[in-house]
Amino acid sequence: VNNVITASRMNCLLRCARQHFWQFEIGLRREETGLALRFGSAWARAMDARWRGQSYDEALAASIPEGVELDMYACATLSALLAAYYDYYGKREKIGKLHPEVQFSNPRMIYADFTVEGKIDGLGSLKIGTSVLLEAKTTSDSLKQDSDYWLRLRFNMQILHYVVEARVIGWDVRDLYYDVTKKPGIKPKTINDLDGDGLKIVLDAKGKRVFKKNKEPLQGGDKAKGYYIKSHRETPDEFCDRLYKDACARPEHYFARREVPVIDDELQSFERQRLALAKLTEHFRNNEDCDFITQPRDPEAWPRHVSKDTCNFCSYKSFCLQNISIDINQPPAGFAVRPFNPELQNEDDATTEETIDDATETSI
Ligand code: SF4
Repeated sequence: VNNVITASRMNCLLRCARQHFWQFEIGLRREETGLALRFGSAWARAMDARWRGQSYDEALAASIPEGVELDMYACATLSALLAAYYDYYGKREKIGKLHPEVQFSNPRMIYADFTVEGKIDGLGSLKIGTSVLLEAKTTSDSLKQDSDYWLRLRFNMQILHYVVEARVIGWDVRDLYYDVTKKPGIKPKTINDLDGDGLKIVLDAKGKRVFKKNKEPLQGGDKAKGYYIKSHRETPDEFCDRLYKDACARPEHYFARREVPVIDDELQSFERQRLALAKLTEHFRNNEDCDFITQPRDPEAWPRHVSKDTCNFCSYKSFCLQNISIDINQPPAGFAVRPFNPELQNEDDATTEETIDDATETSI
């Protein structure tokens, strides 16, 4: 039985109890066919390198480790935003520095043998001398002062989990330092091809360029005659260039930093919530119609939260939404039962840990 409470686990249980059952009670996971790196993880690696004093080139190289892949347009987005970030905040970090990653395992939660575990990779010191938990995040939300995003961050499970445990192991974290980057709203677009004079190229149905009677090149399409403007999908390089210029032109739209004091009452509320989630896990287990030893586990004891906000990003939707029963001794094609909490074991496995959290925001 998996009695380790992590931030991912708490988020998963709140998202969907059935998803939590498969992931954290059974250990059912998709078999990876080559590690695909998500943008959020790549950005987190780049920020980690930057806060440890590395240059743009070093941070970019660190963002995509060997053996993992990132889609070409995601690579273009990463290089453009990272270059604009370095331009905006300077070649080196002046505000502070990150300390080496700290792993914790505290058997303090005296409830049904649950322990709290995690890896804190955001412990840092600001130049002014404060110990902080540095959170480098990406989000699709607005970064304006009055955005609800900032309010929601204060209740982020991972941040609170880390602050509580960092204090337990001796780090006097009094402030949170948020370093947030907005994921771009712009997407690759269709671009008109131009000739050497900067004019559009209009072709007929046979692919021949069309000219007016006065021999000047036609500059508009005509569906009825089968004329169309020659164009192509923006290449990753073109997209990278456009995004970089956009981020440099309005950096406050893409980048924001905030220092926020940790409030002890909020930490206490979080600890109550964490305990409640451990008890809820126990409650669902008790709700199972099996003895855990001779009979298979019972997913029906764990309610589904069916919604496009949860199911669209869920690994288990292929069988869950079809209401297909699963034999965990013979997992569905593409799935395997694996050890729990791989993010606590090694770094590469941690990339597979992201689920819906990464769809909207990701931290270091
Ligand atoms: S498909 Fe939906 S209901 Fe089923 S486990 Fe996933 S999130 Fe829950």
